[in-house]
Amino acid sequence: TFPKRIALLGSTGSIGRQTLDVVRQFPEQFQVVALAARSNVSLLAQQVAEFQPQLVTCFADTPEVEARARELLPQAVLGEQGLLEVATHPEADIVVAATSGLVGLKPTLAAIGARKAIALANKETLVMAGHLVMQAAQRAGVPILPIDSEHSAIWQCLRGEEQRDIARLFLTASGGPFRSATLEEIQGVTIAQALAHPTWHMGPKITIDSATLMNKGLEVIESRWLFGVPYERMEVVVHPESIIHSMVEFVDGSIKLQASLPSMHIPIMNALAYPQRLDRTGAEFIRELSWPTVANLHFEALDLPRFPCFRLALEAGRRGGTYPSVLVGADEEAVELFLAGKIRFVQIAEFIEEALERHTAIEQPDVTTTLETCAWARRMVRELWKKRA
Ligand code: NDP
Ligand code: MG
Repeated sequence: TFPKRIALLGSTGSIGRQTLDVVRQFPEQFQVVALAARSNVSLLAQQVAEFQPQLVTCFADTPEVEARARELLPQAVLGEQGLLEVATHPEADIVVAATSGLVGLKPTLAAIGARKAIALANKETLVMAGHLVMQAAQRAGVPILPIDSEHSAIWQCLRGEEQRDIARLFLTASGGPFRSATLEEIQGVTIAQALAHPTWHMGPKITIDSATLMNKGLEVIESRWLFGVPYERMEVVVHPESIIHSMVEFVDGSIKLQASLPSMHIPIMNALAYPQRLDRTGAEFIRELSWPTVANLHFEALDLPRFPCFRLALEAGRRGGTYPSVLVGADEEAVELFLAGKIRFVQIAEFIEEALERHTAIEQPDVTTTLETCAWARRMVRELWKKRA
């Protein structure tokens, strides 16, 4: 029931800002009670002035950021503790998990422990610790409401359906900026080319993951946890227009799909309003889809040899245990090195593969083991880079 009170982790990011667009558009339905960000203090201060949350926190990863936060937001809680306080804020009904990377895991588990509904954007959390997150959510009786567009699509297709009637899930993939690049062209791509996504505007980490197709691999693992469908019954279809967001095939051969122009506002609205829907009239951020103008939708198979990260993700998902945590940690570090201009695009996959090969898996890892494994994988990639440099 409305109004819902929201705690937002990662308010200054791409998903965070779009979440606040939705709140701004639907002031009767939503209220912001707590905000958390890391380093963009000036934007965070603007958000605080506009939304007047009861709690604001800033991770402040450098002394400069900390000084700026003390100046502009003297009331802010600083450091990692802030994320946990936002995630468990007593006034919040729903926690939007929209930090990037692996920092979202502990706060998401804390939010579940505090019986908050979780609107989940941060896929790394489910990839590393899907077994812990889903089990905790089931025990606490809280829903995990997907924000990732493919998962929102599947989730919408599954409403009113029975689990046993699901035959296959088809996740669509835009194919990213290098969908039609040759292996040779991919060897020489620049940071700017990798950041130029054809259909989505997102934060830098997920944009690079979309260019390597790691993102799609992470999304397959994410689906396995969200929908309980085994890997053999999931397929990825390249669909460059990003209009069909994913599909579910049922046992009778009928396929449902969900469509819209590429927009993260729609899945955010879906997760926040669930089980209701919000009326988009007046919401200028949602463009109307005119079918005749998008008359040519295309579908093609994913060309695996050009996108080794996708294969690595699937292998790590299938092997399970701590392998997905190695995948997430190694990918985070490798993408950072790439964005810092320290390694080439194709080396992202090479370093991740090497970290996976050197890993000895632990089954059913707990939170500590999960995070330690991630940290190990990050160090491993750094060392591999230093050796090569
Ligand atoms: P961005 O990089 O744009 O934003 C990340 C946000 O997290 C920022 O607000 C950042 O703060 C904050 N943050 C990062 N580290 C910390 C920390 N240690 N403490 C507190 N806050 C922190 O990422 P996106 O919004 O693109 O993505 C967020 C998540 O959603 C990712 O897991 C991504 O995979 C997923 N996702 C994103 C989609 C998209 O369209 N963008 C689509 C589907 C999933 P600051 O800016 O202040 O440093
Ligand atoms: Mg997605």
